Amino acid sequence: MDFRVGMDSRQQAGPPVPPQVAYQQPTAPRLEPPPAYAEYPPNPDPKAVYPNLPPLPNAVPHPHPVQQQPMPHLQGVRPTTVYVGSVAFSSHGQPLHCTTCQQEIMTRVAPKPGLLTYLLCGGLAFFGCWICCCIPFCVEGAQDIEHFCPKCNRFLGTYKRI
Ligand SMILES: [Zn+2]
Repeated sequence: MDFRVGMDSRQQAGPPVPPQVAYQQPTAPRLEPPPAYAEYPPNPDPKAVYPNLPPLPNAVPHPHPVQQQPMPHLQGVRPTTVYVGSVAFSSHGQPLHCTTCQQEIMTRVAPKPGLLTYLLCGGLAFFGCWICCCIPFCVEGAQDIEHFCPKCNRFLGTYKRI
């Protein structure tokens, strides 16, 4: 079906079409900018805001003053370091408080193969250096470091290279 022919015949034979009013874009009411805010006073005078306030006394003694009194049972006690949570270990011996023997000790370190050791070994083996792949197990710098208490030999922690 040819619609164009039908439309043409309707315009010619149909009743006169009323002239269409051009569409007008509805205009929004013009908005006025809001009035500017009054400048906030930086230091408002409480007397101006609350004129009936009684005058504040300059110095009011606290009803229950806290007095710093030395604790007699703690005098002469050397403060001890309490480690809460994990301790960041280094690659060398470090001062630490052993919680087993309750003494301040310098940790004894011992190398132990870690992730870096095996990665280096695998990398050397991957590139065909089969003879050299055991070298990381002999180098302390390529291994993790375990920390022990020198008095009670308790394991304290590990310094991991990776
Ligand atoms: Zn210990």
